[in-house]
Amino acid sequence: MVAKTIPVDPFDLVIIGGTGDLARRKILPGLFRRMCAGQMPDEARVIGASRSDLDADGFRDFVREALEEFAGETQCGDGAVDQFLAKLDYVSLDVFGDKGWKELKASLRPDVIRAVYFSVGPSLFGEIARKLSGHGITDEHSRIVVEKPFGHDLDSAKVLNAELRACFDEHQIYRIDHYLGKETVQNLMAVRFGNALFEPLWNAQHVDHVQITVAETVSVAGRGGYYDKSGAMRDMVQNHLMQLLCLSAMEPPAKYGADAVRDEKLKVIRALEPVSPAEVVRGQYNAGGDVDSYVAHSEDPNSKTESFIALKVKVANWRWASTPFYLRTGKRLRGRMSEIAIVFKDPPHSIFEGEFKRKGNVLVIRLQPDEGITLRVTIKEPGPGGMRLTEVPLDMSFAEALGDQVSFMPDAYERLIMDVIRGDQTLFMRGDEVEAAWAWVDPIIQAWQDAGDTPVAYDPGGAGPDDSLMLLHKDGRRWREIKP
Ligand code: NAD
Repeated sequence: MVAKTIPVDPFDLVIIGGTGDLARRKILPGLFRRMCAGQMPDEARVIGASRSDLDADGFRDFVREALEEFAGETQCGDGAVDQFLAKLDYVSLDVFGDKGWKELKASLRPDVIRAVYFSVGPSLFGEIARKLSGHGITDEHSRIVVEKPFGHDLDSAKVLNAELRACFDEHQIYRIDHYLGKETVQNLMAVRFGNALFEPLWNAQHVDHVQITVAETVSVAGRGGYYDKSGAMRDMVQNHLMQLLCLSAMEPPAKYGADAVRDEKLKVIRALEPVSPAEVVRGQYNAGGDVDSYVAHSEDPNSKTESFIALKVKVANWRWASTPFYLRTGKRLRGRMSEIAIVFKDPPHSIFEGEFKRKGNVLVIRLQPDEGITLRVTIKEPGPGGMRLTEVPLDMSFAEALGDQVSFMPDAYERLIMDVIRGDQTLFMRGDEVEAAWAWVDPIIQAWQDAGDTPVAYDPGGAGPDDSLMLLHKDGRRWREIKP
């Protein structure tokens, strides 16, 4: 099966922070891969901008190295790298000074789509917005892309929103959450709303509970200073897990469109009940193997920041009353795994006798590794031994279903950047969504700060603290296994 690519219109994309880590690892290689896939028109141009004192050739050298390291397998032939480098330009500028802004304006074309990617920390967002509009670099047709973290609490998110909205309309602002650009996340919507099979069962009457897991094997080494001010709740739950929760729980939107989808997601966030401290487990990893403990990478040897969190979340509406959503995420766990598991209730009555214990069906939407969808179903055990039952997975791995094409599928950043150029905001967070998510998260954090809560220790290489197992055990449930 050949993945179709629809070319976008000609554009100028400015990357402020174009010499940073995100640009080097994701944005620039992603744009190169889109060119290779035939999605980038000949007239497209990419302008790097940062305080690094480079000229255009110096930036091209930087990008050439980035492509060698991070572009991976592409459909490109010889000469593609040079073809991509020819699209690049560079302006050295200072966000807080006057240097470079006039040059940036002069380097842009009037008659193409104009997008500016803020690939910098959020403390620069407001000033960049003011400089862009103050210098007339952007107008009401331009688009801006901003990176996470979008604030560290409700107040700071409101300030960021106000700063951006002072210069741009909401329809121009693309807040990236790269989880939303993943193929499987969009497939969740396709599975739910493109089939008649699941939606009638997608409610508290038939779903026992939902588990959302984002497990990582990595430590915080190299970003301990940043992470310590954030923690798993702010770094992962407020954005990525919240988005997965919304897409799993939302009502069918009237159509697949930016505001229709985001309105439904917002309703889910607003329906979340406050979480009591008894329904939260915070953990911090110990030393183990050749990896240091969490605090070894933090600037504070007494840090109380969590590197793991598990929560029981209730969505207070007709569809989900009495069906909990369990969320967990953590670092230094046994395996790297992101998935949403919809655990259906047992059949109401079993006609079969014997030892077979009835188990409900489970639909698993895997984001990583091996993106795909599995449905666990009960069948008869093969053979002549009478009517014995067993469970098998109906497994759809994208790698198997799509063959070689899967290696050329756009990664989340590629897809999202092309959506910006197309002007499609469906997979971007709207300002009110972000604020509603913080409004739910803030009291949870405040409660453990008020209580002086200390995270429980957990050994690296496992499934997190035992207390998180208890969170489900006491409800008569168990987490799905985190495989190595
Ligand atoms: P970085 O420190 O590697 O790069 C920052 C870039 O901004 C550099 O190009 C630097 O020259 C430029 N810059 C900084 N201050 C400037 C100023 N005053 N004037 C002009 N240019 C200036 O950071 P990064 O890792 O690329 O991250 C950028 C943003 O993306 C951050 O908000 C980060 O949290 C977010 N993010 C990064 C990643 C990642 O994988 N690196 C992933 C998700 C989100």
